[in-house]
Amino acid sequence: MTDSYLMRVSHLTKRFGETTVLDDISLDVAAGEVKGVIGPSGAGKSTLIRCLNGLEPIDAGQIWLDDTELTAKKADLDGLRARIGFVFQDFNLFTHLTVADNIRLGLRKVRGLDRRSADEIAKRELARVGLESKWDAYPAELSGGQQQRVSIARALAMEPELMLFDEPTSALDPESVGSVLRVMRELVAEGMTMVIVSHEMAFIEAVADDILFMAEGRVVEEGSAEQIFKNPREQRTRDFIDGIAAALVGEAEADTR
Ligand code: ADP
Ligand code: MG
Repeated sequence: MTDSYLMRVSHLTKRFGETTVLDDISLDVAAGEVKGVIGPSGAGKSTLIRCLNGLEPIDAGQIWLDDTELTAKKADLDGLRARIGFVFQDFNLFTHLTVADNIRLGLRKVRGLDRRSADEIAKRELARVGLESKWDAYPAELSGGQQQRVSIARALAMEPELMLFDEPTSALDPESVGSVLRVMRELVAEGMTMVIVSHEMAFIEAVADDILFMAEGRVVEEGSAEQIFKNPREQRTRDFIDGIAAALVGEAEADTR
């Protein structure tokens, strides 16, 4: 392809049984872009992210990674997934493997690296998320925030072209959230192409080049942080942003009681 889009989604529709969960979604992710996805629970954000990684079969439309169609009948999904890092809400680490083995697994099995090269990369990525000292630890010995940083290190070790995040901090206690967002900010600074579903509105507002507001399986509004947060064009977007602002004020008031 001649344009600089790394991922293109064209008229994607996804149903579960009779229910249309994603309805005619189109979006483009340019190389180096940070795309934020926000919206109420049940909007279809997780389903969208899973479709982008080829984890859900779709009912209509197309998804392209560079010039390869992910949704083609004969697509090499394993090959495509090796180019995409995925960080889930609930970390998805292998609980019976150490941190080192969690990171080495894909390097050995998918990238076919020898032990020494895999070790080298695993060490480098673990250092990048500030967890060198946890090499031999098991996931259960780590806090939620540490587990999520291992999960990010594991994804980065595969040297993905695109990173997908599905609410990476929503299962964390408040003191862990910052450490994960810090790592993500560094990735933004390094120019990583990212699609981030998050309820951390201040974070999305700060890092996203472009934001999709989704509700009921549709993209209600797409625009800059300035547009979505300060000057939404759609009433539905405004209601959502105002609702979150009101909830934050409520929390702050409850804290001071
Ligand atoms: P979000 O991440 O925005 O909260 P989801 O993508 O998880 O939304 O869900 C969107 C809708 O799809 C919801 O109504 C949910 O109940 C439904 N859904 C999600 N996964 C499944 C599934 N595996 N089977 C049936 N319905 C599903
Ligand atoms: Mg979700």
